[in-house]
Amino acid sequence: MTLGYVIDRLPFEGQVLEPGHVWLAGAGPGGIGCLTLDVVHALSQADAVVYDALVDPGVLRAAPDAALHFVGKRGGAPSFAQTHINRLLIDLAKAGKRVLRLKGGDPNVFGRGGEEALELARAGIPFRFLPGLTSALGALADAAIPATMRGINKAVILATGHSAEPEDEAGWAALAATGQPIVIYMGMRNLGRIADSLIAGGLSGKTPAAVIMSATTREERIVSAELQDIAQRACEAELAAPALIVIGDIVAVGEALRAPAKTGEAA
Ligand code: SAH
Repeated sequence: MTLGYVIDRLPFEGQVLEPGHVWLAGAGPGGIGCLTLDVVHALSQADAVVYDALVDPGVLRAAPDAALHFVGKRGGAPSFAQTHINRLLIDLAKAGKRVLRLKGGDPNVFGRGGEEALELARAGIPFRFLPGLTSALGALADAAIPATMRGINKAVILATGHSAEPEDEAGWAALAATGQPIVIYMGMRNLGRIADSLIAGGLSGKTPAAVIMSATTREERIVSAELQDIAQRACEAELAAPALIVIGDIVAVGEALRAPAKTGEAA
């Protein structure tokens, strides 16, 4: 049975993307398999797709007739100004286009979905959100790390490590004090400082930690180490963005699950 045949059998109607509307959608962390049917359906209807660097270009094949507007970073160069992106979305919608704004992961998890929606609302442009799989959930699954595990954690924190401001120290200490696992987006540049701040805030330097790069794609790599060593280990392994840092005892569960079965047990 082909995938297309099976999809045709699903009781999926999908909504109509109207001219002059903007949908703020998430493409998931990279792997095509992480796309939702809603997003594929939206791509197939769009006249214009405005997309970011973290969106796999292969995804755009689902929008063969759309005008493609790339607004992400190129080779690490500065990204398009947010005001430029807002203007583009508004202009396309006012020109009567069916606009799909496509972001990596979920549009509302460190994705500026809310900011763009506010600008659209101010301009009187109808919009809606289409969620995507946020990279943290894709990365944890690939690393066999359960996001929550009875007996280990009752919450999981999604944090940004983007800012390098010294006043963030107290923020990291507050997160450390919860004792709950932390998944950090955009933290690679500040990884050493973040680890130091969490340890200063009370986390043991031996807390299990992992860095997961390019999750759900063919370039995926996972490095784990104790919190006190994770920055150095990630640097030695030359891990770079996009990557997530996971800190907490759930990481040890993933290590145990990824370990090759012991000879005796396998028999
Ligand atoms: N809206 C996105 C996050 C955008 S912020 C989401 O929901 O996932 C950009 C950060 O996301 C990157 O710096 C990295 O920390 C993380 N990220 C995005 N895609 C990733 C991937 N495939 N693997 C690991 N981290 C990823």
